[in-house]
Amino acid sequence: MADRRHRQESNDAPQDGAMSQEKPPGLLQQLFFSDPEFNEKKLQDHKRFTAALLVITSLFLPSLWVWDYITDPVGAMNTIGLRLLYLLIILLAVAFWSDRFHYKQLAVALPLTLLVSEGIFVEILTRLGTGMTHGMGGFMYAMFLSVLAGQGIPLFISLGFTVMATALPHAMALAGLAPEFPHLRYGILMWPAMGLTMVTQCVLANEYAQRYQLEARLKALSNTDPLCGIANRRYFTQMLEREIQHNRRYGHRLFLLMLDIDHFKNVNDTYGHAVGDQVIRHLASTLQKELRSVDGLGRMGGEEFAIFVTGGEPAHAKEVAERLRTQVEASPTHYSPTIAVHQTVSIGLAQLTSADIGSADVFVRADRALYAAKNRGRNQV
Ligand code: GH3
Ligand code: MG
Ligand code: MG
Repeated sequence: MADRRHRQESNDAPQDGAMSQEKPPGLLQQLFFSDPEFNEKKLQDHKRFTAALLVITSLFLPSLWVWDYITDPVGAMNTIGLRLLYLLIILLAVAFWSDRFHYKQLAVALPLTLLVSEGIFVEILTRLGTGMTHGMGGFMYAMFLSVLAGQGIPLFISLGFTVMATALPHAMALAGLAPEFPHLRYGILMWPAMGLTMVTQCVLANEYAQRYQLEARLKALSNTDPLCGIANRRYFTQMLEREIQHNRRYGHRLFLLMLDIDHFKNVNDTYGHAVGDQVIRHLASTLQKELRSVDGLGRMGGEEFAIFVTGGEPAHAKEVAERLRTQVEASPTHYSPTIAVHQTVSIGLAQLTSADIGSADVFVRADRALYAAKNRGRNQV
């Protein structure tokens, strides 16, 4: 359980490779190897903007009926209903605001709705006497919307939409739905606009990919201990708080282990600080190997680490602590082929109780237990 949840948080969790400086997803990658996590975040980041844009657009488009009336007062009587149909876009805006929809659903629904709106617009122009002459500029809205509303959806879909939106009036005319459609005049106006739109979409997609990468890197950096590459104190405490909430809800037990290297000053004094650092790193990797993804591990500072273990009986947590202690004792740091630095650790173990308000309370007890272990002679739980 804990395993699965921590994996889901992998975006902000320091782990093997968290510090690797991967490049942002390039344009080709965004086009052909769409990453669901990237796409979902992209949608979430643009959600409110897209919804607001759709609401404004759908409120604004019916008022264009006034324009219909000015160009053809008689024909305009036949376009009222169609102009009102634009209000259906609001329904999609509502969907954008709701958290129930997945990016795939919205990425299909948005272009479809906009294409339907455009089809309605072609029909409006057909119904107006001079519609095809005076209404050409209206197609530019499809391009604006491709750029603006398309920001939250995968690039290959928004580019595909732009091409379809440009081709749609031609297709409708060829199918006999728009008899007086001026293919050439429309083409001269809209094809260059389509090119410009697609370039803009690529530029914006690229900008977003950079921002996404930067955010992910900053998050990983702010959560990671620079020496060991595991969770730092801030992130460990955050994970622990989340774990406490979760375990309370499901009535699971939670144990906190505080671990401190015994007589670490001696290591620094004897071998120097660089070796001391190596010992700390080695200890972190020993602990990580033992715990492997099921429990939380963090460096609290200096040569002190904290671990939480969830579920199970107190005896099980004690066993885990014992296993960690013996494993550390059995894994000296080899800082040269001939010299191995042996170290032991003392561990304080505390269980979360119903009286604990947050992580601070259980930290205090684990810390007290750690000092008891130190006072009783070290190298013990
Ligand atoms: P005890 O058994 O009581 O824990 O003895 P100790 O010598 O380990 O005592 P203490 O925990 O007070 O000492 C911690 C030492 O760890 C002091 C500090 O110089 C050293 N230290 C803290 N952070 C680092 C670090 O990042 N790298 C290195 N090399 N040493 C560190
Ligand atoms: Mg110590
Ligand atoms: Mg210490």
